Amino acid sequence: MITLDQLNAATLTEASQMLDGVYEHSPWIAEAALAQRPFKSLAHLKHTMADTVRQADRAAQLALIRAHPQLAGKLAEQGQLTAESTHEQATAGLKACSPEELAALRRLNAEYLAKFGWPFIVAVRGPRGTGLTRPEIISTFARRLENHADFELAECLRNIHRIAEIRLNDKFGVEPVWGNQVWDCAELLARHSDVEGALTVTYLTPAHQACQVQLVRWMHDCGFDEVEVDAVGNVVGIYNGSDLQAPRLLTGSHFDTVRNGGKYDGRLGIFVPMVCVRELHRAGKRLPFGLEVIGFAEEEGQRYKATFLGSGAVIGRFDFSWLNQKDADGITMREAMFAAGRDPGQIDPLKRDPTQYMGFVEVHIEQGPVLNEIDMPLGVVTSINGSVRYLGEMVGVSCHAGTTPMDRRRDAAAGVAELLLYVEKRAAQVPHLVGTVGMLNVPGGSINVVPGRCQFSLDIRATTNEVRDAMAHDVLSELKRITDRRGLHCTLEETLRASAAPSAPEWQARWERAVESVGLPVYRMPSGAGHDAMKLDEVMPQAMLFVRGGNSGISHNPLETTTNDDAQLCVEAFMSVLEQLAESP
Ligand SMILES: [Zn+2]
Repeated sequence: MITLDQLNAATLTEASQMLDGVYEHSPWIAEAALAQRPFKSLAHLKHTMADTVRQADRAAQLALIRAHPQLAGKLAEQGQLTAESTHEQATAGLKACSPEELAALRRLNAEYLAKFGWPFIVAVRGPRGTGLTRPEIISTFARRLENHADFELAECLRNIHRIAEIRLNDKFGVEPVWGNQVWDCAELLARHSDVEGALTVTYLTPAHQACQVQLVRWMHDCGFDEVEVDAVGNVVGIYNGSDLQAPRLLTGSHFDTVRNGGKYDGRLGIFVPMVCVRELHRAGKRLPFGLEVIGFAEEEGQRYKATFLGSGAVIGRFDFSWLNQKDADGITMREAMFAAGRDPGQIDPLKRDPTQYMGFVEVHIEQGPVLNEIDMPLGVVTSINGSVRYLGEMVGVSCHAGTTPMDRRRDAAAGVAELLLYVEKRAAQVPHLVGTVGMLNVPGGSINVVPGRCQFSLDIRATTNEVRDAMAHDVLSELKRITDRRGLHCTLEETLRASAAPSAPEWQARWERAVESVGLPVYRMPSGAGHDAMKLDEVMPQAMLFVRGGNSGISHNPLETTTNDDAQLCVEAFMSVLEQLAESP
């Protein structure tokens, strides 16, 4: 076992020796990284090594990838793998492959090598460090065979960094105990679903209620002083501070999911502070202030055409006309609430008095590719993007595709296509501004008919309302020009408008110090997605911490993933925020 102090104090030769085997047959990575000593933490060392590889040229990156053995390949059969690889492949049970599995792996190895020219690399010990199953490895292999070569090269390098991370944990005798607790909670909570074979938990279904019961039990186990399910269905846990009168810190996120969603979206932001409370309670520690953790019942707007039911109730913005809305089965929200033992009549009192709180913080998985791409475990959110959405219908004249000359057409779909290209070009001019036409539909369209109608959607998001509105203004002007020129008519309905929620500077600074405290560089970024924090922003200061997602940050998808080591960093960062607040509230 080695320690960071030993590594920092050692000569370059000794230190390189200590890091031997972390990156397969590639000692240059350790040597280059060691020039940047001293390391503040193991996370700092891991990040520095990953950064070294990221900044190396493509030839060096390819050489690193090619230094790895094929999975269950010839070298393994001949017993010629490095000790590390032998152990990893054995942990994944690759020695016990059935003949069918071996045949599948051989075929995949061959196809993969033919397509990319390098061996397939996967961190077989997986996101929890305990090993992927053989079916998981084979399905990952098959899925990644479809990737673009540039993307796949980067994905191989990310897997190599994960392999290195686990090897470093072994060398330093480090186990991400808190991260494991978070990761295991996510796994267990994901057992409750509205449907079989996928993770879907929508508002107040039996699976949703089972999640409430589970969260209540865990909060009790962690040592929260008060735990309850409130009138709207939020699970609320309070860990008292030494001063019961002091304003509390509010935190949390949602536990509902989209249909066929991921295990970490929202839920991570509940588990991370839960694990902090478990640790405080275990150590017999009280903060000077209370910590209130809310598992918000609903954020995703899946069962009813309403979102943020949980955080909306907490800030006193629950819209009671929603109670009459019906779900797909004709059950009103009111009926669903009574059936689940909730009381809509008691929603009003859930409104919090902002003077009783210091502010709101939320930990959330990034749900995008940015942090993953730059090998950065944590990101500090600067602002939650404001958005505006429209549904539109372009109307022209549908006519014969063979007989109508090109200059006599009023093609509705071509008009929308022109608008779409403008949206793409206009949004690309400003950093962090995004515009999307996500729905395009030619009702009753036919291969031999010029489209007479085209329905479309438009979604614009930006870090400030001004940037968002400027783009919306330009898009509407362009739309007018297009319809005038093409002889089309367009109706456009604004369906949603949400204000940007910039992070409160002093709270953003706390997250920045927290990231520094775990030894990582601070990376700031806006949030492209909406979060519960944007509701809380209406009544109190807020700031968010993002953690990278694996699989290129994919979210609202079963492939959404994070590692126990990244979850550990979230807990450590959250602990740092608590310590900072305890020292100077
Ligand atoms: Zn979410």
